Amino acid sequence: MAGRDVLLMSPTGSGKSLTYQLPALALDGLVLVVSPLIALMKDQVDALQAKGIAARALNSSLTVKQQDDAVKAAIAGELDLLYITPERFRTAKFQAIESQLPIARLAIDEAHCISQWGHDFRPDYSKLGEYRERIGNPPVIAMTATATKKVINDVTRSLHLDKPLVLRAGIERKNLFMACTRVRTVDEKVPTIASRIAEIGGPGIVYSAVIKDLEALRDALVELGVPSLVYHGKLQSAERKSMQEAFMEAEDGVVLATNAFGMGVDKADIRFVIHAQVPGTLENWAQEVGRAGRDSKNAWCELLYLEEDLAIQQSFIEWQNPDLAYLMKVYEAIRGWGDRVQTKDFDDLRQEVGLETKADQRLTLCMRWLGMLGAIEGRLGDHSLRLVRPLDPDDLPEYLKSGKKLEMDLKALYRMMRFAKSRKVCRRVLLARYFDLREPHGNCGACDNCVNATEWRHREMEPREGAGPVHFEGVAEPDAPVRRKSSRKAGKTTRKKPGSRRGAKKKRTGGEAQTTTDGEAPKRKRRRGRRRKKAGAQSGEQTTTPPPQSSGEAKPKRKQPRRRRKKPSDPPSEAE
Ligand SMILES: [Zn+2]
Repeated sequence: MAGRDVLLMSPTGSGKSLTYQLPALALDGLVLVVSPLIALMKDQVDALQAKGIAARALNSSLTVKQQDDAVKAAIAGELDLLYITPERFRTAKFQAIESQLPIARLAIDEAHCISQWGHDFRPDYSKLGEYRERIGNPPVIAMTATATKKVINDVTRSLHLDKPLVLRAGIERKNLFMACTRVRTVDEKVPTIASRIAEIGGPGIVYSAVIKDLEALRDALVELGVPSLVYHGKLQSAERKSMQEAFMEAEDGVVLATNAFGMGVDKADIRFVIHAQVPGTLENWAQEVGRAGRDSKNAWCELLYLEEDLAIQQSFIEWQNPDLAYLMKVYEAIRGWGDRVQTKDFDDLRQEVGLETKADQRLTLCMRWLGMLGAIEGRLGDHSLRLVRPLDPDDLPEYLKSGKKLEMDLKALYRMMRFAKSRKVCRRVLLARYFDLREPHGNCGACDNCVNATEWRHREMEPREGAGPVHFEGVAEPDAPVRRKSSRKAGKTTRKKPGSRRGAKKKRTGGEAQTTTDGEAPKRKRRRGRRRKKAGAQSGEQTTTPPPQSSGEAKPKRKQPRRRRKKPSDPPSEAE
């Protein structure tokens, strides 16, 4: 309020946005909010308008008339908040009016995007310091959920913050149980997740980086009698909106989502966040699990990690880091089109540079870079793209040339994996070390390295009411005593009824789950038996039983020991 620059780090939903909404209401003038995603912006604006706050968005999803209206209202001083993307500063139209805006504060959401060392670097974000000067250096409120010291320094420097007040809310929130669970095959994931969903009632989010996997998981969950919503970037925005609304309204909705889901989600009672795939960085993970338990009640945060998923994340990272040669290739393709460029669309460009998968973001990033470097203007696809000036390789940012960013991102991924694999040190201590925070002392009582995770879950979490447990019920239960015994003998394995197991194999969803998806000692499973009844008669953490209807479709049975052995495609077990 006093006009000092503020850098605020705090988990999602802890009232971060209030820090700029309040000044917006209290101060004369406009708070200009820079936000990375148009979809997110719309949700925020809708929510504010519902509260009677004069907020508008200005972005390319609006008609020209709507954009003009928003600008007019802002200039006339009718708005408290105006949301824009950083790219907006580059448009001639905005530059023409920016000096007329009565800007009192510049608020920057997801400020870690500024830092090339952050996990979600956006070229245009790195220009915000420059843009800030252009609009008369208003005080800045920069917000991010998590950031390392390096990122904070970068943000401070890049935005020219003047001795910013740095506020850090702890990431230790004790109501979040943190666990990392190794799975040995892809097939273990579905039953493990299904069983968690049955054991933990209330709303929950399952994250995966791969859309295909989400869809497969949804189908498998349906077979297990667990309905879920699926949310990812490929859905139409209307679909995404209705998914989000359905999730917000449901008392115990489960959403399977890519990390696109959640930024705008303000739901306090999320009881679990499960990662079906290792995130790219610990920042990502911390930010995403931070969406759970905002009502301060207990919540379960679990990462299922599979060695081979590392390769998927590596590809993502490579796709997020175009090198100089790639940038030049894109540039040359556009240049080669000459006047024909305005008849081309994104698919043409994709074909021209030989991009195989849509998940590959290099092209999009290169287009942003070319725009930022002043080589191109306009947009591909709406006939407005044109080459403005030749690209001078000397102008290119150093890190684009050096390839250092790629190296850093890969390192961050390895640190994420190290965190996942770590079995000895409290997870809160590991996080504190990563984020340069003060290390907590003693047993945190809420992580899998401090206490028995399964016991905690069964003690602290209420099982889900409804379809899930009903389906699992009766199939697994009679086997329980046998399973407990054999689990002691076989070390890591518990067994099911033979019939069920065969069915599971056929479906490739169920039976595999009994191998140690929890990374827990067998003795924990023994204790668990006592709790079985309370947990809605569900079988147990990794013993989700396949649906009864599948048990008839028997396939030749393999012996139990073979089932536990890794498949040839599994990577060597360096994790052990
Ligand atoms: Zn701990």
